[in-house]
Amino acid sequence: MEDKTISISKENLPLLKEIKALREVIWFNENYTNFINVEDSLPLSHKDVLNAEERLIRFAPYIEKIFPEVKNGIIESPISKIDNMKKRMEKDYEKNIYGNLIVKRDDLLPIAGSIKARGGIYEVLKHAETLAIENNMLMSEDDYSILAENRFKEFFSNYTIQVGSTGNLGLSIGIMSAKIGFKVKVHMSSDAKQWKKELLKSKGVEVIEYASDYSKAVLEGRKLSDNDSNSYFIDDENSKDLFLGYAVAGSRTRKQLDEMNIIVDDKHPLFVYLPCGVGGGPGGVAYGLKLMYGDNVHCFFAEPTHSPAMLLGLMTGLHDGISVEDIGLDNRTEADGLAVGRPSSFVGKIMDKILSGAFTIDDNRLYRFLTSLAQEENIYLEPSALAGFLGPILTSDKYGKDYLNNATHMCWATGGSLVPKNIMKGYYAKGELLIKRRAK
Ligand SMILES: *Cc1c(COP(=O)(O)O)cnc(C)c1O
Repeated sequence: MEDKTISISKENLPLLKEIKALREVIWFNENYTNFINVEDSLPLSHKDVLNAEERLIRFAPYIEKIFPEVKNGIIESPISKIDNMKKRMEKDYEKNIYGNLIVKRDDLLPIAGSIKARGGIYEVLKHAETLAIENNMLMSEDDYSILAENRFKEFFSNYTIQVGSTGNLGLSIGIMSAKIGFKVKVHMSSDAKQWKKELLKSKGVEVIEYASDYSKAVLEGRKLSDNDSNSYFIDDENSKDLFLGYAVAGSRTRKQLDEMNIIVDDKHPLFVYLPCGVGGGPGGVAYGLKLMYGDNVHCFFAEPTHSPAMLLGLMTGLHDGISVEDIGLDNRTEADGLAVGRPSSFVGKIMDKILSGAFTIDDNRLYRFLTSLAQEENIYLEPSALAGFLGPILTSDKYGKDYLNNATHMCWATGGSLVPKNIMKGYYAKGELLIKRRAK
């Protein structure tokens, strides 16, 4: 495809050349501004996140009732130290990683097995609450476990939820919606893995498949939904509610780090590396963390070299006005959760001054990290979820030993526990082969 004329600062031109050549890059955000000077100009506030937190607390008795495996009805993931992986990376990359290395295990989030259990489930629950309250079936003071009663299931079966997805958002919204009693249609792109489609069908979800990519699936889903007054479309590109569901991770993560005695302040910075697709998941989490830690947290997005949508949108300032195809890239990656060619402008505009930077990673490296992490820590992730692991290697030169010595690096592991065993075996074998072929 032909190049669009794009506005880009002179300093970023060499970087654009590298991106076009599919080389791994890191971009540091020249628009970064102290959080205190940005917070009030954003379209969301801390209060919105607190409201979302309270809503999830109201729903906890219901979640606990229908998903007894969810402890206290709060869908959250653990954090763990990964010292063996740190040593392995230092050896493989011949580079010191200054500070602690930890991992946030969103692969273990119950129900959906990915970061999508945060935003997706939150938005479905909020929609159910709104409908039930409007129809005088529920009051916010009620014990929400009544929502598991049959009369609610019958009521919700009059309504449809639709969503466009590369896979995991469909899983999260499909499973939750079907459980509540909604009719649910998931519009899936060609990159979506077959097992994800089959899992959804087995839960009674209608899966509509498209030969084209994610943007087309979203477009068609939205059109179909708009033609049905009882249908609600969950809009991955523009949804405030999804974003807020993700943002709740901020305060919960702070609490977990406190309990682990991990200090975050101006002498002890926190670096967070988040795999990024359309932007909602990592964007919401980053926003939630900025609310907690301000400038003491540095958030970076990680994207495949073939799909650097958010990086392009941010560095050009064009947001959804540019796609990876516009610069000649094919948006083909094994990281199905990140196979997005055009970023969310809603998220991009929020990130513009609060994100510290973004980097890209080659698909083969995702597999090498996948297998190393399994070997060193017995943690099995899906390829998308490994994208952040290059972060601690890439940031060390820029920030320097003195600042990083007391730092904590947190790689956000965004998914993996629902991957069928035989498919995970294949991922592992591929990484093992690649490791053998090349030491790094
Ligand atoms: C969706 C997803 C992401 C990225 O979230 P976006 O909201 O699309 O940016 C990262 N990792 C995994 C495993 C995902 O499913």
